[in-house]
Amino acid sequence: MSFSSEIKQELARVSPEKDCCVLAELSALTQTLGSLSLQGAGRVQLKYTTDSPTAAWRILWLLRHRLKMKVDSGVSREKRFGGRFVTTVTLSTADSHRLLRRMNVLKPGDRGVDEYQGAPRRVVRRICCRRAFIRGMFLGCGSAAAPEKGYHAEFVVGEDGRARFLQRVLEMTDLRASVTQRKNRAVVYMKDSEMISRLLVSMGAPRALLRLEDVRTLGVVKQQVTRALNCDQANISKQLSSARQQVAAVTRISTLAGLTSLKPELEELARLRLANASASMETLAGMLKKPLSKSGVQHRMRRLQAIADELTHQTPTVYVKEETP
Ligand SMILES: [Zn+2]
Repeated sequence: MSFSSEIKQELARVSPEKDCCVLAELSALTQTLGSLSLQGAGRVQLKYTTDSPTAAWRILWLLRHRLKMKVDSGVSREKRFGGRFVTTVTLSTADSHRLLRRMNVLKPGDRGVDEYQGAPRRVVRRICCRRAFIRGMFLGCGSAAAPEKGYHAEFVVGEDGRARFLQRVLEMTDLRASVTQRKNRAVVYMKDSEMISRLLVSMGAPRALLRLEDVRTLGVVKQQVTRALNCDQANISKQLSSARQQVAAVTRISTLAGLTSLKPELEELARLRLANASASMETLAGMLKKPLSKSGVQHRMRRLQAIADELTHQTPTVYVKEETP
């Protein structure tokens, strides 16, 4: 399975805590996969079309289980999707209207006729909703390269205004992304491994983060251990596995809470561990401002590991218990 599919399957299992977040996520899915058609007498119908079974499953789940709406769905082969199977999800005109109003796409006008509001900004006012919005955008048009092949995550948004809007929402969540044009379509992308890690956490994909982190730390540790080849092979493998765990723990703290959140003595050790991934405990002990015994360093390292474990469990993600596609 591709890394993108892995992330999407994880995102599809996130259970949004509040209805505001359900609407924010649907707003993003509507922007990327939805289309409106006029049905006469001012009625509109909302339809979602996607070749991603995971995105289709998610839309159905949000509409049926969270908003208690009746929806029709069907699968067919479509030429414009290169002959791939495509799922369509269609709402009744009454539910389309209800949902568009709740997402603030439509608002009641003066003469009893609803007015079109355009891309709703209200849905991303709260932090919880911004995360849900980004999740919906990723499910709708996002992808990420396998971490072994380099760091790249992107959203093929299409329209420039929407791409800038997504870039701003990411910025409000402390995530930096760039916008580029590819074949006349606006693409929002990130190339920085730390940004991508934070994106995964924000959207609610901590398991994908662990995989990314694993590849990232293995790279760092391997490089440094190879440089210090004067130890014997057995020693190298032993060092590699414990150093790797330690670097992974420190990286996780750095991603989830920032190293500055640590007590000064722990922060110092954490930074030394990152910068000297292959150094032994004795070497690290000698590098501290106030020298410490090897067992003292080991004790601090265990505290760092405990903090990392605690942070991982605190990640505010609740998984949907039902079967996913
Ligand atoms: Zn919310």
